[in-house]
Amino acid sequence: MAKKIDFTTTKRGKRALLYEGFRYTCQRQADGDKPSQWMCVDRTCKGRGHLSADEKQWTLKQEHNHLPEFGEVAANKVKSDIKIAAESSGAVEPCLLTQKAYGEANEETLQHLPKEKSMKRTIQRSRRKKYPTEPKSLDELEHISLEYQVIESEQWLQYDSGIDEDNRVLIFGRKSTLKEMSRSRNWLGDGTFKTAPHLFLQIYSLHYELHGQIENSHLRSQLHAILALPFLPVAEVPEGLQLLEKHTDALFKETLQNVSGTFVTPFWEIGKEI
Ligand SMILES: [Zn+2]
Repeated sequence: MAKKIDFTTTKRGKRALLYEGFRYTCQRQADGDKPSQWMCVDRTCKGRGHLSADEKQWTLKQEHNHLPEFGEVAANKVKSDIKIAAESSGAVEPCLLTQKAYGEANEETLQHLPKEKSMKRTIQRSRRKKYPTEPKSLDELEHISLEYQVIESEQWLQYDSGIDEDNRVLIFGRKSTLKEMSRSRNWLGDGTFKTAPHLFLQIYSLHYELHGQIENSHLRSQLHAILALPFLPVAEVPEGLQLLEKHTDALFKETLQNVSGTFVTPFWEIGKEI
């Protein structure tokens, strides 16, 4: 069986050929039926070979003066594969890409790879280069750059209250999503300060139920009651909560615990203190 001919990219972006633990760069391209000519990446070595024009047949023309380095060669291949995958699939988390590649690599290859953590950082850095830089001042934000306005050729920025507005608000969403949202009976909102870009205070996201709705109508009416609690005067919230607890079943209690254990907690706590 023919041994595997593989290709990768050198640090300078040139194509490199991998064969039996040796790495080569191209010396002369294939010309018609004439094979391409390759030389060992080690410049002190005279190792040379020819690759048939259909890139299926490798012939060693001159021996190397060193031993093959399977681990290092394989590691280079893993690194360049991760880089290519990271650049072409923006949606996949860097940690998933590296996790998969490192999981598949053998011991010898792993020894020649950088630590997984530093590989992830490299991917994040190369990703960031692809995105427009974050604006540094409000003046720079006068116009939202086109890269942020459109997503996969659909309008993404739907509303901008404008540079003159003291509390500027931007609303993002695809038309197709908004249409679906208008048909959904249940919306949920949540705000976060943590992930907002530094010129902004808060990201507020709206979520909606895509398929159907909460089947159990009893539970649904109880959930509506929880969602109504924020509209009570703060001092009356504990009383409202007690009332709810008195008139609810076990399923609801579980749901309530779940809800109060996550994002509504601060709200209950405020009510209790007063
Ligand atoms: Zn060599």
